[in-house]
This record gives sequence, C-alpha cells and structure tokens, in this order.
Amino acid sequence: MCPPVVVWGAGISPAALSRPTWLRIPWGFDRQIQSIKTAGGRLCAFFLNDNDADGHDVSWIYDVDFERIADTPGLVAFAGGTRAHDMQVRLKYAGIDAAIISDVAQAIGAVADEAADDTFYAVANYTAFPPLVKELDGLKGATADAVAGRAVARADGSALPVGIAPVELSRPLRIVYLYPDALNLYGDGGNVIALERRCAWRGIPVRVDEVRMGESLDLTDTDIVMMGGGSDRDQLAVAHELLAQKDKVASYVEDGGSLLAICGSYQLLGRSYYMGEDRIEGLGVIAAETVRGSDRLIGNVAVKTDLAPEPFVGFENHGGRTLLDAEATPLGTSVITGTGNNGDDGFEGLIYKGVIGTYLHGPALPKNPELADWLIAHALERRGDAQATALLPLTPLDDTYEHAAHDAAMKLLP
Ligand code: GLN
Repeated sequence: MCPPVVVWGAGISPAALSRPTWLRIPWGFDRQIQSIKTAGGRLCAFFLNDNDADGHDVSWIYDVDFERIADTPGLVAFAGGTRAHDMQVRLKYAGIDAAIISDVAQAIGAVADEAADDTFYAVANYTAFPPLVKELDGLKGATADAVAGRAVARADGSALPVGIAPVELSRPLRIVYLYPDALNLYGDGGNVIALERRCAWRGIPVRVDEVRMGESLDLTDTDIVMMGGGSDRDQLAVAHELLAQKDKVASYVEDGGSLLAICGSYQLLGRSYYMGEDRIEGLGVIAAETVRGSDRLIGNVAVKTDLAPEPFVGFENHGGRTLLDAEATPLGTSVITGTGNNGDDGFEGLIYKGVIGTYLHGPALPKNPELADWLIAHALERRGDAQATALLPLTPLDDTYEHAAHDAAMKLLP
C-alpha cells in the first residue's frame, strides 16, 4: 500500500478552486488520515481503485485507522473510486457515514456552502490519483455555483444506528482476536471490527481482547475467537505457539465456541499443513488437512452457502489446498468463482459446531454480514441463559451499504 494523495484546499471560491494547497507524492493512507486529524480537517473524500496497478485486493483499507477521524465535529465524508462501496462500508464500520461519489466535483459541490477558509481533503490510492488531479485541474476557475450544480446529497448519518438501548447480559460478549501481530495478512482484523460493531449497534455489551504472540491464551468466558491469515513463516511460528496450548483450543471448539479462522489459521486448525516434505503439525480440531501446491490461488471468489441466500464474496490468496475428510461439512457448497479449498471439489471452507474456517479475505465479515451475525448468534445461543437467548433471533440491522458492496463484488466476477 503506497497511495499517492492530493489534499486540496477547497474554499469553493474561484480563487480557492484554482489553488491546491498541497500535492503530495505517494505516502500511506494512514499518514494522510493522521494529517487530516492534525489539521482538524472535516471535509474529506476517499478514492479507492482496484485496477491492476493497485492490486485487486482492497482489504488493506481495514488496516487504515479511519476511526481516528470519526469523532471530528461536523465531519462530511465521501467515498469514490472503482471500489467506492467497499470504502463506504469501511468508513461505516469506522463510525463515518459517507456518500458515494463518481467524481470529486460531486463532493466539492456538496460542500460548496461551507466556509471559504475550510479545507477539502481528497485522498486517493495509486490509479485513482491521476484522474483526481486531472479533474481538479479541470475545475480551476469554475464558479462555486457551477460546482454546486454537480453536488450529490451528503450522507445524513442514518446508516449508523443512534440512540441504541443497551441490553442486559450477565457479562459482555468477549471476542478474542488471536495473534493480530502474526495473523492479519489481508485486513483480517476488519472481521473483529465488524463483529464488535454489529454487537454494539444492537446494544449488546462487547469486549475485544487481543492475545499476542508469547502471551498465554485464556479462553475462559470467551464467546468468539477470530484468527486471520498469515504467510507460511508466520503460520509456522503460530503453530509452535499454539500447539503447546492445543487443549485449550480443542475444548473451546468441542464446547461449541464460535471461531472464525481465515486462510492460514483455517489450515492450522486441521491435522497438518504439508509444504513439500516439511509438515507443520496442525491443531487437529477440524477434519481437514492441507498440502501446499506449486502455484498460488489468487483472486476474487464467490461461494454459495447454506447460511445466506446470496453467495459469500471475498478475495483468496493461498498456496495451500485443503481437503476435507468425507464427514466434514464445507461452508461453501459450491464455488461460483475462484478456487475455494482446492480448486477441485467445488468446496470452500468448513463449518463444524461453532467453527467457520474459510479462505475468504476481504475481510470476510463486513461484506457478508450474515456470516458475522451467524457467529454472534451462535455465541449467544451457546451462552444459553435467558438474557442471551432473548436476543435471538438477532435484531436486523440496516445492511444497505454492506449489500451494495457485496453486489459490487459480485459484479467483479468473470
Ligand atoms: N500460508 C498459507 C498459504 O499460502 C496461508 C496464506 C494466507 O493466509 N493467505 O496457503
């Protein structure tokens, strides 16, 4: 991730329109967010493209700390680029309701009535940058009225639940994010954000604990565990770390604990992961094993499951091929696009008790909210007490943005 950026002062007076305040070379989105925060900026647009030069996987936006600017008073945000809907969902999960734009003039037009000394910040990744600069050049000398005529409606904040009544639970729902320092290959930490937000939006008290490498694992009173993907090297390190604590994971799984394991950690839950002659011993808590192939399986993926009417979507990037034992149940019963577990049998992932193992990065949960809710519901069901059971079935949330991002992902498929 090394996105170019333009941060542009837009007082919407003709003078301001003709004068970008800063133009910068590629830096990181995260640094730009920090700059906006430091400057107290509150008018911003984020452009996200997924062309060849950008990379087709946009999961990294979940590694950007948009949360940092979410509480800026009067924040007005917009999302653009070929993956505008992914950006909109990311911002929503950061607590920012953003309107979709197809060009920067639509955003500038929408803030044309703001004070002339306010600054408009536009941040774009690689291929989104040149057209943005070109468009800004084309706007030089435009009158405020002309730009205002292109405005889109600002987001009104209604995508984010407000006035949420807290519900009573004997103790908060505890999410354990296992090894964020080793297993967070393609924005998988976004799954934790999605779980936490979807509980909070329902008033369900929730607590997230991160367990890092070297720390002892305590799964007592744990309701959901999330483990991301990792390179073979990190996977090996985690295997060493976890094998010594295998019994804790095994009893959590057998007790029906909710566990989301993505890619490398999904492989680790199986019996073994073979890299040629080398064998990484797995935890053996699911009926599967993985063998590394000669090439990597990379690309957008969509799979039909029994958990939702629409296919789940994501991005896969793995060398391992996972084979389920005959008695195991796949999560995805038929791969529409992509390869899934191994590219041969049409299966993707696995579902066992409360465990979901899957190759879906993206991260998986924000664009597949039914999967997030399945894990939450399963965790509440496992609690089994009256307070937890009273929350089922889960109150529906407004998933308009999530579904739009999902539908946009489906359109990317060949
Ligand atoms: N190391 C594993 C593989 O390449 C997992 C990669 C991942 O987590 N994306 O198969």
